[in-house]
Amino acid sequence: MARKFQEDKLVVASHNEGKVREISDLLAPFGVDVSSAAALGLSEPIEDGKTFTANAEIKSKCAANESGLISLADDSGLVVPSLNGKPGIHSARYAINPDTEERDFIYGMNKLNSELGHLPRDAFFVCALSIAWPDGHIETFEGEVHGKLVWPLKGENGFGYDPMFMAEGHYITFGEMEPEEKHAISHRARAFKKLIDACFRN
Ligand code: IMP
Repeated sequence: MARKFQEDKLVVASHNEGKVREISDLLAPFGVDVSSAAALGLSEPIEDGKTFTANAEIKSKCAANESGLISLADDSGLVVPSLNGKPGIHSARYAINPDTEERDFIYGMNKLNSELGHLPRDAFFVCALSIAWPDGHIETFEGEVHGKLVWPLKGENGFGYDPMFMAEGHYITFGEMEPEEKHAISHRARAFKKLIDACFRN
């Protein structure tokens, strides 16, 4: 049985304001006061885990230790089985354009498309969400959404690899979906549901 969250405060172990906002919105119904790692001046640990879960746990543990507060962290990415799981935990790094040294998903998606060639285009997104208590207790949940990578790119919504990803049973990409439609089926939403059912509901 998972440990329940019974406090009224937590820190989101992310320096990405977009992520902090999305997590605050999801936790709003539970009356939780959410602060960010950046606002508390917490450090950004090196994510040298080999799995999404390991990296989410590195981030949540580090923030819980430094802040003395319960901390929530996520780690996510795109897995392509026919490329031996690439870009996987390196999804953000995979999209760095060597010419500009900036993250550029058009570059990243073009690279994926050429690496794939005629290989099978099945792919899935993974999100690991980890909640860590200052006493060292930790609970982690993973969500996935399966689909395929399409070409040409379609849609301007979402972020990252969304214009290339079509979820099973859907005929538009994540980039073409309205946010509510993506949030109903996404890897992040599925991991959140598991976390909320296990740790936030009595
Ligand atoms: P991180 O979890 O902040 O390390 O970022 C993971 C990377 O995975 C992002 O920069 C995106 O490249 C990719 N990614 C994760 N979730 C999504 C998603 O919902 N849509 C598109 N790309 C995603």
